[in-house]
Amino acid sequence: MKVLVINCGSSSLKYQLIDSDSENVLAKGLCERIGIDGRLVYQKAGLDKEITEAPMPTHKEAIQLVLDALTNEKTGAIKSLSEVEAIGHRVVHGGEKFASSAIITDDMLKAVEECNELAPLHNPANLIGINVCAELMPGVPQVAVFDTAFHQTMPPRAYLYGLPIRYYRDYKVRRYGFHGTSHSYVSKRAAEFLGLDPENSRIIVCHLGNGSSISAVQNGKCIDTTMGLTPLEGVVMGTRSGSIDPAIMEYVAKKDNLDIAGVMNVLNKKSGLLGMSGVSSDMRDLEAAAAEDNKDAKNAFDVLTYDIIKYVGGYVAAMNGVDAVIFTAGIGENDGKVRAAVVKNLAYLGVTLDEEANKVRGEEVVISTPDSKVKVAVIPTNEELAICRDTVALVQGK
Ligand code: ADP
Repeated sequence: MKVLVINCGSSSLKYQLIDSDSENVLAKGLCERIGIDGRLVYQKAGLDKEITEAPMPTHKEAIQLVLDALTNEKTGAIKSLSEVEAIGHRVVHGGEKFASSAIITDDMLKAVEECNELAPLHNPANLIGINVCAELMPGVPQVAVFDTAFHQTMPPRAYLYGLPIRYYRDYKVRRYGFHGTSHSYVSKRAAEFLGLDPENSRIIVCHLGNGSSISAVQNGKCIDTTMGLTPLEGVVMGTRSGSIDPAIMEYVAKKDNLDIAGVMNVLNKKSGLLGMSGVSSDMRDLEAAAAEDNKDAKNAFDVLTYDIIKYVGGYVAAMNGVDAVIFTAGIGENDGKVRAAVVKNLAYLGVTLDEEANKVRGEEVVISTPDSKVKVAVIPTNEELAICRDTVALVQGK
């Protein structure tokens, strides 16, 4: 079955066409600057990237351009759109309504709309993608795969905040967690790769990218995760602060004469590795600056690795032990320095780093030595493949 996977952002859209039988990517790319001017990146498997500047006033034109590229006579990956048998969409927030992926129906879309308030930047864009696909490819089954769904197994002690309970009852203020598709895919793959029993294992997944989150997965189910009501909580990220003392917000608002939106903008876009270092949100730039003795860049690196060490330690305690610690996403898959700094402080678990294995980048690899009591590994994430698999399973009624 050929499945189109779509991840719609507010001004961008990533896509992949996947053959679900072979799990090969037939074509992939993205649309950028939707609503501004428009740029399409398209790459058929085995060919070079094509970049086309083309007007994209709305997501509708963007998706139409993707479909045209996919069916282009010369470089298209398919002859006709009728070959697309299902569409899988990433949807950021499913609230408490969705604990798993779901076939898209009119009623179901109403329930997703009700979650818009919880992810005002993301969910409306995801819904636009779904509606445009329904219009341009009528009759093709569509599936929503939620970033929050995997974390719905958390118990109240992990998802409730120390706030008046009516905030939860009336406004649904609670920890939801994000990157769920990645945490689910990586924890399952880790159990397979390491020969662990998925029903009887304790795995900590460190998804470290531009946005980062860590989750504790016990017997295949998420029992805790670092992101909260929104993707702002938890470890320090590229431009997001991660957890801070909430009173800082009032303090800096007064000092800098900011309103709530102004403070939120700082916490989401001007903080994290970028804000701390004044250099960049990208770990590669940060490490280059640290190598030149930039103290702020060094501190930013240390704050990130210390955060990871503390959350991993917390989750070891929460699960009363751990079988494996996994690194994934942009930093987790590529950055041996971050991994080494974290693994150094896992000695209390009987873990030693295999320095040679830790040099490998972007591949599945065990980076703890064979005598280590707890396994540490890198498992590259693949959210698109996870979305494709869920889509096929639901469309085929499995
Ligand atoms: P997103 O959260 O946007 O999906 P990714 O998981 O792709 O992000 O991670 C992107 C981040 O990964 C970059 O901002 C950078 O910090 C980090 N990164 C990517 N490649 C490397 C590398 N070779 N070494 C260190 N860090 C890297």
